[in-house]
Parts: sequence; C-alpha cells; structure tokens
Amino acid sequence: MDTDLEKLFTRAAAEGARHRATVADRPVHPYADPVALAQAFGPPLQAGPTEPAQVVDELVAAATPGLVGTVGPRYFGFVIGGSSPAATAADLLATGWDQCAYNEALSPAAGAAERAAGSWVRQLLGLPATASVGFVTGAQAANTVGLAVGRQGVLADVYWDVARDGLFGAPRVAIVAGAERHATIDRAARLLGFGTASVVPVECGTQGAIDVGELARTLEAVAGRPVVVCLQAGNVNTGACDDLRSAIPIAREHGAFVHVDGAFGLWAAASPRTAHLVDGLDLADSWGVDAHKWLNVPYDCGLAICADAALHASTMSYAAAYLTGSGAATDFVLGDLTPESSRRARGFAVWAALRELGSDGVADLVDRSCALAQRMAGRLRAGGATIHNDVVLNQVLVSIGDPADTDAVIERVQRDGTCWVGGTTWRGLRLIRVSVSNATTTEADIDASADAILASASQG
Ligand SMILES: *Cc1c(COP(=O)(O)O)cnc(C)c1O
Repeated sequence: MDTDLEKLFTRAAAEGARHRATVADRPVHPYADPVALAQAFGPPLQAGPTEPAQVVDELVAAATPGLVGTVGPRYFGFVIGGSSPAATAADLLATGWDQCAYNEALSPAAGAAERAAGSWVRQLLGLPATASVGFVTGAQAANTVGLAVGRQGVLADVYWDVARDGLFGAPRVAIVAGAERHATIDRAARLLGFGTASVVPVECGTQGAIDVGELARTLEAVAGRPVVVCLQAGNVNTGACDDLRSAIPIAREHGAFVHVDGAFGLWAAASPRTAHLVDGLDLADSWGVDAHKWLNVPYDCGLAICADAALHASTMSYAAAYLTGSGAATDFVLGDLTPESSRRARGFAVWAALRELGSDGVADLVDRSCALAQRMAGRLRAGGATIHNDVVLNQVLVSIGDPADTDAVIERVQRDGTCWVGGTTWRGLRLIRVSVSNATTTEADIDASADAILASASQG
C-alpha cells in the first residue's frame, strides 16, 4: 500500500515536472476545444470506485490538452509569475503532508515555517520587525484584511466598535484611493460593507501613481470622517508606484489608516536598484503582497501584513478575543490573521522560495525582470511600436499602429503561440500589456516574443 502511494505521488509529481520540461516548446496557450475538454471531464458520476492510479491517468489525459503555459518563460499576461523548483516541491510536500495551518497545535511545523518565512519577508521588504504576517490566498484577500483592520482601527478612534455593532449607524468611513487602484480594492469595499460609494478616488499623475497634492485636497474634503487611505506599489498597467514617502505622512496628519496594495510592486523593495520606487513603505499600517506573482511561489499565496499585530489579530481572529484590549501581539495564533479558519500550509512554499533564492536572489529576480521589460520595450519600439508607459518596473504598455486595432493584434499574437500577452484599457486607449515576472524568462525569450508580436501586427 505504501509503495502504491509512493508510486502514485511520484507519477503525479513527474507529470508536473514533464509539463514544465516541455512548456517552452509548446504553444503558450493550447486554445483547446472547450467541448472536447468538457467531454473528457464529463462522464456521468459512476456509483463505484476507481483505482487511484487510473484516476490520475484519466486526469492527466483529460487536463493536458487544456493546460496553459503560465509557468513557462513566455507567458506575459496579467502578472502571473512562475513557480520556482524548491517552492513547487515544498508545495507538493504541503499537499502530501496535508497540514492544516490554523494554529501551531494543529501543525507546529506549518506554524514555524510561516513565522520564519514571515520574518524573512519583513526583512526583505524593510517592514517593522513587529509586524504580523498572515498567509492568505492572494492580494485580494490581503487587501480585504488590510481594509478590515483599517475599518476597525479608524472606527475605534471614534469610539465605534465595528466588531460588535457593525456598520449600521456607524460614522461614514471614507476609503481614499488612487483613481488607478486595482479592482480588488473595490471588491473589498463591497464585501466589508463600505460600499463602492465610500471609495473616494484621487486623481493620478501621467504614469498612474497618485497625485500627492490631490491626495491632500481629497483628505481636506473628507475631513471629519474616519479615513482609510489605500496606496499602491505597482500599478498593474504601468508598474508605477505611489510616492509613499510623501503620501503617508499627509494621510497620517489626517488621522488616516494607511494600507498599501503592493501585490507585485512591493518586491521592488528587495533590490537596491528599485527600492527607491517604494521608499517610505515602512511608514504604512498594512500591506498586501503576493507570493504567487513576482516571488514565483505556486498558486495560491499572498501575505496580509500589519504594523499593529494586536489590531490585526483582534480584527481577524475567530473569537474576537482581543476586543477587550488586553492581548499581547505575541499571543495570537496564525489563523487569527486571516479570513480562513482551516488553511493550507502556505508557509512551506514561501520559506522554500526564499531559502532557494536568498536575499540576493530575490533582488536579482526583480532586477532581471525589470531589465527584460526594458529589453522588450526597446525591441518593440525599434520595430515601430509605441510604448505608452515609463518602464520603471516589469510592466510594459504597447500599441502597434492604431490602438483601435490592438485587440486584433493581441488575438493574432495569442494564436501564434510564441508568447501570450493580454490587453488592457488604460486612459481610454486599448493597449497590449506585457508583464515580465517569471524567473525562467531569458533575453532570447524576450527577443523571440518581441519578433512574434511585431510579425503579428504586420499581418493586419
Ligand atoms: C494582482 C493584483 C491584485 C490582486 O491579487 P490576487 O493575487 O489576484 O488576489 C491586487 N492588486 C494589484 C496591484 C495586483 O497587481
């Protein structure tokens, strides 16, 4: 039996490895026939059992035609990242061990890994050593936690206990955020009962970073209300980072709680070459950052980090045990920092990714991605494309010819299969968006992809 299990797991792991070994040689997207896929997965549920080995065989056969090469070196859509060898192996172990990371009684190992990895992340990003780190599913969850902690904090400042009394009858909180905030902020505002009407947008500069003068004026306009300011490190279109060093003290003057959405951009802090872009980030109250994007940890994994660990735990804990105000920051269990109760042990993969790379390796990953984004921009520009953003980080916005034709160009690029890029609408223009965030991408991948994009455009 044990041997069978070992064989089964080995087979599954080998399939994962095989997918990666060949991912660069296949079209990035398979554009599989959805009907055929549905049929492959779609026999009626039978009454009796199936041998595990056969189940795995069937799954591999059914899924393989529909697998996208997101883990490969020429997938530039969204901000996907890759997944490093050690982090992926660690995640396989997390599955094999099937630990529940709710607290350290359930899994002392999962807890210790989260605490160690959390401490390394704080160190890499230059965050306060006392900050609490919750391991969540991604930046959506992390932003929701940050805004929830902010909600609790700013309402407590006006003697309103939101955990007990909710928002009915509460003073009206303003969520002040850049006009180019990520859509996850709006979803968090909806889920937390603020409503999107509570989001007060602040105009951005030409690159999509918040206009600090406009921020000050907006804060004047909402004076008297409890305020959560939501800043951004890494605009998903341009890569631009808000001027945190200037913006956070202004928010502070108005008594605001400050959250930073740094889903991918926060990692700029890990490289001496890009750290200036997020200078001042340590002044904030909470941060949301993904591990599954730029750190190249497998999906899914994000971090919800708060400067005030006790407020973080009192907001998110099961029992709301700290509402009486006596809890010490060290008392909380890791499940007190996240929206989930039972939880996958995500600390193993983050620990492994950081151990594999070291701090220099993380800096190098950031630097290489930025250099490759520059290279992509340069090759495309040389081929007649227009680059619409200052390529300060890993994101490139491109049009070739008339932006009205962008979707047709994107379609041809995607079908060509050399690389995969997506589209975005930014400042009224339909553009190609290129995100370089996979550690395995090389200069040759960039060159081949730039050529494929230019060739696809010229076929129009
Ligand atoms: C990707 C992204 C998010 C959402 O992150 P998920 O990991 O998809 O939950 C939030 N903000 C920014 C700036 C992002 O790039």
